[in-house]
Amino acid sequence: SDQPTIALSDGTSIPQLGLGVWQTPEAETADVVRTAIETGYRHIDTAAIYGNEAGVGEGIRQSGIARDDIFVTTKLWNDAQGYDSARAAFDESLKKLGLDHVDLYLIHWPAPRKDLYVDTWKALIRLKEEGRVRSIGVSNFNADHLGRLFEETGVAPVINQVELHPRFQQAGLRAVHVEHKIATEAWSPLGQGTLLSHPVITAIAEKNAKTPAQVIIRWHLDNGVITIPKSVRPSRILENFSVFDFTLDLDDRRKIEALDDREGRIGPEPETAP
Ligand code: NAD
Repeated sequence: SDQPTIALSDGTSIPQLGLGVWQTPEAETADVVRTAIETGYRHIDTAAIYGNEAGVGEGIRQSGIARDDIFVTTKLWNDAQGYDSARAAFDESLKKLGLDHVDLYLIHWPAPRKDLYVDTWKALIRLKEEGRVRSIGVSNFNADHLGRLFEETGVAPVINQVELHPRFQQAGLRAVHVEHKIATEAWSPLGQGTLLSHPVITAIAEKNAKTPAQVIIRWHLDNGVITIPKSVRPSRILENFSVFDFTLDLDDRRKIEALDDREGRIGPEPETAP
């Protein structure tokens, strides 16, 4: 298909727009994932802690699209940090997904108070060497956490998946990513839905004859960011994917940039999150 992809520093590539399944109930997940794939999505973002990896695997199989044409991300939860426990957690995720490899495996949070993310990273490096993971990355790492990975292992993650939306644009961290060839992936790209009624966003949507969600997703794509908006509703799953036929002009972009707010974080602060 002709949807945009982002080249990763390890030679692989990732569809720029995917479906997130946080808070998608396990019983609905297979249907939601199958619907998304039928709509054209080729990238699904789950995590061990979401409790729906089995549904993700089932939805992929039900879709009839070849496994190798779908990019699957899952994440290692905090309680499994450490070398041996990370390997065991990965086995568990693979079994639930019913797959023989995942495309991208992420450390979900640095959990710096445990001080285990470097050992955990070494386990991910080994999983990649074994071919059970195509690409390895992290989530919610700040510049210091990333720095320790480079210094202590010499291996940079290909992606850092972080909170990023018009209210919290992460310019500083994105500059660090560029320097180290780390792709930026946005979680809660729509601000968990809270930004969709913002007057600046609704005005830009009206001007472009698009919906607020489409405007924000387009903004991420225009920034070269990978993004994974979540919905369980077929109509919104389609709406959020119907973003490849327009771009925002400079004036639209400036207005969205002006929404940035240092206090705009919705989720936990990575340094103090458990
Ligand atoms: P989001 O910004 O994608 O917002 C999702 C919510 O917005 C939906 O529940 C719905 O209420 C609303 N919505 C979506 N599409 C809409 C539309 N077209 N019209 C109207 N309302 C719409 O929030 P999210 O789920 O927090 O983030 C997306 C994904 O990011 C998650 O599903 C998960 O995969 C990932 N994530 C990762 C982390 C992490 O720590 N790595 C944290 C949070 C989320």
